[in-house]
Amino acid sequence: DSMLHWLAAASRDRLLGGLLADGFDEGSCRSRYQSAMYRRNAGKEPSAPLVSKLRRYEDLQRRCGPGTVAYSKSVEYLRSRGKSGGGGIGSPECRYLASISYRGLGNRMLATASAFLYAMLTDRVLLVDPSNEMDELFCEPFPDTTWLLPRTFPLTNYTTFNVDTAESYGNMLKNNTITPDRAGDVPAFAYVHLDHDYTMQDKFFFCDDDQRVLQNIPWLVMRTDSYIVPGLFLLTIFQEELDMLFPDRVTVFHHLGRYLFHPNNQIWGLVTRYYDAYLATTQQRVGIQVRVFGAQPNLPSLLEQVTKCTKNENLLPEVITGGEPVLAPTSRPRIKSIAVLMASLKSWYYEQIKSMYWEHATVTGETVSVHQPSHEEYQRFGSRSHDAKACAEIYLLSLSDALVTSGGSTFGYVAQGLGGVTPWVMYIRANDTAVPNPPCCRDMSMEPCFVKPPAFNDCRGKRTINPGKVVPHVQSCHDVPWGVKLV
Ligand code: GDP
Repeated sequence: DSMLHWLAAASRDRLLGGLLADGFDEGSCRSRYQSAMYRRNAGKEPSAPLVSKLRRYEDLQRRCGPGTVAYSKSVEYLRSRGKSGGGGIGSPECRYLASISYRGLGNRMLATASAFLYAMLTDRVLLVDPSNEMDELFCEPFPDTTWLLPRTFPLTNYTTFNVDTAESYGNMLKNNTITPDRAGDVPAFAYVHLDHDYTMQDKFFFCDDDQRVLQNIPWLVMRTDSYIVPGLFLLTIFQEELDMLFPDRVTVFHHLGRYLFHPNNQIWGLVTRYYDAYLATTQQRVGIQVRVFGAQPNLPSLLEQVTKCTKNENLLPEVITGGEPVLAPTSRPRIKSIAVLMASLKSWYYEQIKSMYWEHATVTGETVSVHQPSHEEYQRFGSRSHDAKACAEIYLLSLSDALVTSGGSTFGYVAQGLGGVTPWVMYIRANDTAVPNPPCCRDMSMEPCFVKPPAFNDCRGKRTINPGKVVPHVQSCHDVPWGVKLV
């Protein structure tokens, strides 16, 4: 009996408390079942309603996803712009959300997780734009179906949709093609533009009345580069369900990210070989993400910000600067080992910190080893090996016991969320020489920041959005004060 108990518990752990569906071929995606073994911090348990919602969502995806009759009908309906495809709206029981992915990997992952939550809340099939390596980096998250938008998608120019696209929801409102207070004919599709340059009309997406209109549109194509989830928490119509699915609000990305993003076997090899070689046997792992930009010189002030942060917050021991420690232990002492995993496009910061711990003893006698898997020098687009390294480093950072991130970076946001770690976030710097004081602070939660929220949108006078006032659990971010996050 106790053996059965143990087996049941082990299988629950492997599936992250029921978050993941069983029944995938393990060899084709080793990270899916092995990641639990690499996480010292097991993370949060998903709620029972979230687990059952995911299973129902997987059913929807199987029933309506690519390859089904319903999908063909809906695509036909879209191709003819609503003029054909099985009476009325194509396949009334199946509606779709195509999510455009672009920019850096962190942005793409946050955008995809946001789209997934919106799709779940509105019972839409999620189809992810396969460009930008999204089809290559990650395994299929949904059993017996696909999350990838087929290459035969009839809106062939969808990757060029932008703020000016006539079919955007915002532009249709502007041109009175659609009005939220008049139920009537809705188009076969709408483009939802939630990018940094979105207009006031685009922002009406975050209003209840507009969500009621959008509900009737069979196809939505969404572009965002942000984590729009805190914005969804501002809507009344989703409130009840969100409360039920996420009783612990700060775990939204934690669960969605762990559900969706399983690196492929090649990337998992990068993660596990590095972890086993450099991090596995150490007692404490500290991850440090130093976000720099290609053309930037090496900045002593940024190095100082990092070391001040780790010192002030007691994350790493100080070093003795004046000579060697006087009391040399007679026998080899039991010393605590700390491994620092650094991620950065440049190697200079890592070399400096590594030298510091080689050239000087620590005041505590602890040993500090410093590691950085790659230094790609500048950000690249459309390079598979570059993205694979970025993905591996995000995962390695997420395996840290403590994490220091660079403010405003989606790369760090993803690492903290996957790891279930509330980071110390370094403040964004005013210029290349100033060291912010304090250099960093303990963040409010592991959730990513929504850096471009619909701040002054009042939903046509029906509501004002004032972070922290309207909804107490949506607060201004420490690192990006004009952004909001779940706390
Ligand atoms: P953000 O720009 O900081 O919000 O993060 P993104 O992940 O969206 O975009 C930054 C991109 O630059 C990454 O996806 C990588 O391609 C590259 N990059 C930035 N920092 C690192 C790093 O520490 N390691 C690696 N391998 N790539 C990085």
